Amino acid sequence: MAKIIDGKAISKEIKEEVKEQVVALREKGTEISLAVVQVGCDPASSVYVNNKKKACEYVGIRSLSYELEETVSEMELLNLIRELNQKTDVNGILVQLPLPKHIDEDKVIKAIDPKKDVDGFHPQSVGALCIGQPGFLSCTPAGIIQLLKRSDIEIAGKECVIIGRSNIVGKPMAILLLRENGTVTVTHSRTKNLQEVCKRADILVVAIGRPKMITRAYVKEGAVVIDVGIHRNENGKLCGDVDFDDVLPVCSAITPVPGGVGPMTIAMLMHNCVDSVNL
Ligand code: NDP
Repeated sequence: MAKIIDGKAISKEIKEEVKEQVVALREKGTEISLAVVQVGCDPASSVYVNNKKKACEYVGIRSLSYELEETVSEMELLNLIRELNQKTDVNGILVQLPLPKHIDEDKVIKAIDPKKDVDGFHPQSVGALCIGQPGFLSCTPAGIIQLLKRSDIEIAGKECVIIGRSNIVGKPMAILLLRENGTVTVTHSRTKNLQEVCKRADILVVAIGRPKMITRAYVKEGAVVIDVGIHRNENGKLCGDVDFDDVLPVCSAITPVPGGVGPMTIAMLMHNCVDSVNL
């Protein structure tokens, strides 16, 4: 029977570790604060933002809320970020994405001081990741590495196939798996023979953004399957990019949705906030 990787339990473990680090820093006189910027009131973004604030409260990080109107200009948002960059009592800056269409996300990400870039999206953070220098790691892929390590799943020497090449999941995932000495293949919408390529994987990371697309036809017997996707169906039920029930009998381990990768992203954000003190 496949092991169901418990992302909720592992994320709790990480949050407990962060909590201890926050206490230790406070004893030395260092408080940690995260500025959380939300533009507009998209319901999905509001859920993410609230979960992040709750996690901050849990681990003892102060969260500062900046809620801006949907109509805020790019200039006003950039000015706020510059202000937050200057504030010595702000350690991390998180701008909840996506932003409204009239605002250039790249410009906003680049405006964040790399020392406060706790999401790990700034080109400097990405560059540091690529060449193995210290910097913030993108939270979702970093969380997946923790899920694998803390479930005693060996990465070194394994065939790792990633479906998806986005800047926030697929690409940083590839670099992190490479860093752990995996043999990495990145696939995307133009990949030929996707099923065949996926069937080579000992570790298959799925970040396509298509509900339940990955069935057992893509999975080698005994593979580890990590499902990054999050979708809500018309009844409000969550599912991933992987058809969990179909794949479960053939894999050796799998992350469920909900309760797999999702909780790890926030735990790693908390971890990055503490890291901001040392970077
Ligand atoms: P994007 O839409 O940015 O990227 C999707 C990737 O999948 C692209 O590289 C695309 O290829 C590829 N793709 C799409 N269709 C196919 C196909 N038929 N065959 C092969 N490849 C395909 O998504 P994200 O990376 O941002 O997110 C992926 C999923 O993960 C989403 O469901 C998202 O909600 C979820 N997510 C979950 C997080 C969490 O915390 N659990 C965090 C971030 C995302 P191409 O580049 O060629 O277009």
